[in-house]
Amino acid sequence: MAEQKKWKWADDPSLNKMELTKLEKDGLDVIETIVNRYSKEGYQSIDEADMDRFKWAGVYQQRPKDGHFMMRVRIPGGILTSEQARVLAGIAADYGRDLVDVTTRQAVQFHWLTVESLADIFNRLSSVGLSSFEACGDCPRTIVGNPLAGIDPHEILDTRPIIRQLENFFLLNREFSNLPRKYKISVSANIYNAAHAQINDLAFTPAKKMIGNEEVLGFHVWVGGGLSAKPYLAQQLDVFVRPEQVVEVAAGVTTLFRDFGYRQKRTHARLKFLVADWGAEKFKEELLNLTGALPERGEDLLQGWNAGYFYGLHEQRQAGYFYAGLSVPVGRMNADELSELARLADEYGDGTIGTCNTQNVLIRNIPAEKVDAFRSEPIVVSRFKLKPNTFVGYAVSCTGIEYCNLAIVETKERMRSLAEYLDQTVQLDTPLRIHMVGCPNSCGQRQIADIGLQGALVKTASGMVEAFDVYVGGTLEDPRFNQKLSARVTSDRLGPFLAQLITLYKAEKRADEPYWRY
Ligand code: SF4
Repeated sequence: MAEQKKWKWADDPSLNKMELTKLEKDGLDVIETIVNRYSKEGYQSIDEADMDRFKWAGVYQQRPKDGHFMMRVRIPGGILTSEQARVLAGIAADYGRDLVDVTTRQAVQFHWLTVESLADIFNRLSSVGLSSFEACGDCPRTIVGNPLAGIDPHEILDTRPIIRQLENFFLLNREFSNLPRKYKISVSANIYNAAHAQINDLAFTPAKKMIGNEEVLGFHVWVGGGLSAKPYLAQQLDVFVRPEQVVEVAAGVTTLFRDFGYRQKRTHARLKFLVADWGAEKFKEELLNLTGALPERGEDLLQGWNAGYFYGLHEQRQAGYFYAGLSVPVGRMNADELSELARLADEYGDGTIGTCNTQNVLIRNIPAEKVDAFRSEPIVVSRFKLKPNTFVGYAVSCTGIEYCNLAIVETKERMRSLAEYLDQTVQLDTPLRIHMVGCPNSCGQRQIADIGLQGALVKTASGMVEAFDVYVGGTLEDPRFNQKLSARVTSDRLGPFLAQLITLYKAEKRADEPYWRY
């Protein structure tokens, strides 16, 4: 076990219980304990405090707490290789009951793992340069980005090297493994905000600035976004950052969060609360104390929002090459299907696969002459479609009660069947994004959906039944969270209720509703 740091907040008597757990033993130290002890001695041997620290290994107990775990694997910037995909598929087949979920932070999630399997899984991941470490916990989580980075006709620069630098800097860095709460970074140079900047703790978005006689391409910086029960949109700081300064600025923002973030209540510990209290101006001043002077904001190059959707075959920045945006309904697939995606990436593309924050996937770098054959591949025709139906294609769901201990209701299968029902019931020629979450934590990002559905319970004559609060009008185009309707709808009436609501929307919607980019 590494020597524990003496943090300056260590003697604060108002720290919450989790803070004491982290001070007693750093979250990262649990990885060694899992490998050397728990994976040999089994579930019953796990100490209660270490169970809380399992998150730093990217592992949570799944529901019901009977010895099975879920694991999240970081896919930095949402780009993985076919070799990595095959290793992930092997883990799902051997240990995870053949289940693979793509998450809204472009990560891959397994279920049904036992503690005995974890040491082998860590090794398998590491053998192909992947890691589950710090994919959960109070630390810098999976760094999200543009899954088209390097091939995107709508990006101002290739962000892959920057994401790699950030990943190398933060992963397993004990200076930042004890933050007040989870911490989410996004970096994208796509002008359509592919990485959902405003809902991240720290985001970098494309910008340019004249510095002397030189026009410099770089980033604007946003801090303090986040969803959950009290959602906040990130605020932009008045600074311009060159690509080579991103790591230093990210380190500065993270240092401020680590040293000044709130550690008294878990529900009031995210960076968004500190930013809301300080304001963007004070936050910038404190940041500059750490980084030294930075130029003021330049020209913002964001031009709206593509909502993270890339369906179909599209020309890349490289002439003669295409990328394919494929639909993975509610982000769930099995091991064979993931292996099949790896085959497609090798046979048609350059061996890389993109994971999207909409729980979908991309095959990158397909030469023009292979496009027709790709289009005819059976899995593309029947399963991971290039042009999915309106509702199945734009449905997002969190994990829900099937595996999540915090869930109030079932979500994944319900969202999938609800989307199929709507596709059969309502004809709509523009996408409508529906996000379902099983509790207010909002892993399925319901606040930014056109229609957000949040699980709840209602009392009826026959007892408590599952129901949903319905929210409408969320977007990052002109950023705003969706608004709650006054009705709470029981799950048996949800389909007909939404069919009616969407029919009403269809009749009233303006011809210029901004859906063209999806
Ligand atoms: Fe679980 Fe709630 Fe997150 Fe859904 S939103 S995965 S129910 S914590």
